[in-house]
Amino acid sequence: MITMKLTITKSSNFKTKPDPSSLSFGKHFTNHMLMMNYTEGEGWTSPQIVPYQPITLDPSAMSLHYSQSVFEGLKAYRTEDDRILLFRPEKNFERLNRSSDRLSIPAVNEELVLSYLKELLLLDKEWIPTTEGTSLYIRPFIIATEPNLSVAPSTTYTFMIILSPVGSYYAEGINPVSINVEEKFTRAVLGGTGTAKTAGNYSAAYKAQVGASGLGYSQVLWLDGIEKKYIEEVGSMNVFFKINGEVVTPALSGSILEGITRMSTIELLAEWGITVSERRLSMEELYQAYEKGELEEAFGTGTAAVISPIGELNWGDKKMVINNRQTGDLAKKLYDTLTGIQTGKIHDPFNWTVEVN
Ligand SMILES: *Cc1c(COP(=O)(O)O)cnc(C)c1O
Repeated sequence: MITMKLTITKSSNFKTKPDPSSLSFGKHFTNHMLMMNYTEGEGWTSPQIVPYQPITLDPSAMSLHYSQSVFEGLKAYRTEDDRILLFRPEKNFERLNRSSDRLSIPAVNEELVLSYLKELLLLDKEWIPTTEGTSLYIRPFIIATEPNLSVAPSTTYTFMIILSPVGSYYAEGINPVSINVEEKFTRAVLGGTGTAKTAGNYSAAYKAQVGASGLGYSQVLWLDGIEKKYIEEVGSMNVFFKINGEVVTPALSGSILEGITRMSTIELLAEWGITVSERRLSMEELYQAYEKGELEEAFGTGTAAVISPIGELNWGDKKMVINNRQTGDLAKKLYDTLTGIQTGKIHDPFNWTVEVN
């Protein structure tokens, strides 16, 4: 019988939790995971929570060959009074469906998968670390599973959610990063898959990332794929600049990932009376502002680091040291406010947080 009722099989093999002080990103996983399958004609059926374990895939499973796969990333936080909070989770599932649409993957029911996520979190809630700056990273994803080498959309899929306790992104306090402006490789072009969180976008960026690391930079700043002039985003973060008092972020051009932290930053700044100018911004304009001493701050926004100040930008043979490699006032205030809301330390005037209970 086809059922949408969630079944739960509890793990009897309880793993030991990692030491919260030694947590890195995405290396430890909790006791349980969520799975749900899709078959053409039947839709998504039989959601189940099962012990965390390897999955079986046919070697010809379509996602392995043609990257028909999408994912999301969000976090659960534990408050000081022991409540569990999610930050705008409905936005992640809306975006998952937009990514799926781009990859010809069938949509999931957003309310239902959020309710399954809450069940999974309640089961593994002891895995949400409590120390300052830590959280439980949530990775929902969908893979094409049909055993078939034809270049066509799969007729079967698996949706999963796995959970990973993660450490503070800023072990030694929030630290500005150095970034290399990528002039050769392209992340995305208009009409491509840049707005989707789909597997292939990330492996296609490794070459530039490895090159930047070799030069001593921690991330890549991507330019538009056509003219290599306009700023798009940084690694897996959106990017903001403060130029002569104006806060600027690249407009959602059709090749930029629509970050939920980006959206929240814009809404928060509006609340503070600061209008963000979403527009095209060229490297040339940025460099000229820098030369005139008008480039006041630069920072990235994304779920992993929340706000990541940029201390240095390397553009070919030109180097820009921003705000003396110090975290700017605006970046600091945004970081404190966003993380304060996410962890329940400060009042959430926007109703962004969702309690899991
Ligand atoms: C996930 C992601 C972001 C940031 O999105 P958030 O919703 O803020 O986490 C930005 N750029 C890329 C390429 C991403 O994959």
